[in-house]
Amino acid sequence: MKKFFTTLILLVFVFALAACSGKETGGKGDAGFVGISMPTKSSERWISDGENMVKEFKKLGYKTDLQYAEDVVENQVSQIENMITKGVNVLVIAPIDGEALTDVLEKAHKQGIKVISYDRLIKNSKYVDYYATFDNFKVGVLQGSYIEQKLGLKDGKGPFNIELFAGSPDDNNAYFFFDGAMSVLKPYIDSGKLVVRSGQTKFDQVATLRWDGATAQARMDNLLSAHYTNAKVDAVLSPYDGISIGIISSLKGVGYGSGKPMPVITGQDAELASVKSIIAGEQTQTVFKDTRELAKKAVEMADAVLKGEKPEVNDTKTYNNGVKVVPSYLLEPVSVDISNYEKVLVDSGYYTKDQLTK
Ligand code: BGC
Repeated sequence: MKKFFTTLILLVFVFALAACSGKETGGKGDAGFVGISMPTKSSERWISDGENMVKEFKKLGYKTDLQYAEDVVENQVSQIENMITKGVNVLVIAPIDGEALTDVLEKAHKQGIKVISYDRLIKNSKYVDYYATFDNFKVGVLQGSYIEQKLGLKDGKGPFNIELFAGSPDDNNAYFFFDGAMSVLKPYIDSGKLVVRSGQTKFDQVATLRWDGATAQARMDNLLSAHYTNAKVDAVLSPYDGISIGIISSLKGVGYGSGKPMPVITGQDAELASVKSIIAGEQTQTVFKDTRELAKKAVEMADAVLKGEKPEVNDTKTYNNGVKVVPSYLLEPVSVDISNYEKVLVDSGYYTKDQLTK
């Protein structure tokens, strides 16, 4: 009996250890071995993406190696190199810097490894087989249209003051989001109904390296002190919830939200903190992209490619990576605010009501 318990304790210990290092998981791996390379754990969405993919791959009998590179490009490259050495059959990659993987994908190709670009496009490599993402231009359109509607621009209201933020310049998506939003906002800027007091309207002037909230907060601090001591901000175009949080801290620091009304502030990803912020009346909107659906799509693609089949795609024109147009599947993003968060996020089981109220 004693021996049994010692063995049991030992087994529990071994399993606990395995769970801690916990990156290589999955079924027996009979179907194949998948390397999943994600950019960072600093944003919830990528954690869900990774977990959802592991779950879906496991169902189909794949073994997985899931790695996060914490927004350091060199980490991502060496993690992918390791996956190649370990003998993965397919790589699913959300790049940190879309242009930094050309060499490592050349190595993958030499080993016959297939590549799925996940959410973000991998640029400058012909060895990207398929791309699973959302309609990224539409994400921007949803953000721009939200501002248009909230301010009543279509009804001729204005002028209003707006400041613009964009995402990371090394992420292809950032340009699509910004272009989508500007397709709605620019006519109002041109007609004077929207005024950008800083004058910063070009992507390069408003980009936020690595989507960093603190960087956005520092920029908003500067904008407020340089251009808004005698004027109020009515709207802020923010491409991502983490950036919105930085902007909101900056605004609160000079009295918005207490006394002065908060401007209309957009976002993306429906991250827990931002949905709570929407409920609290601080952030105004976010764009929900169901990572469960994206994970499923990417897994279907990887599975089909490994079986020598053609995965389902719905776009073969939009995503030119500099070397080829990568066949893509685009999922639909959904605009979320106080009026529909329960329906979209709670009823679909993405969050429980408890998570949002605690
Ligand atoms: C993703 C967004 C995300 C951003 C920052 C983009 O590539 O498409 O969903 O908000 O990266 O992580």
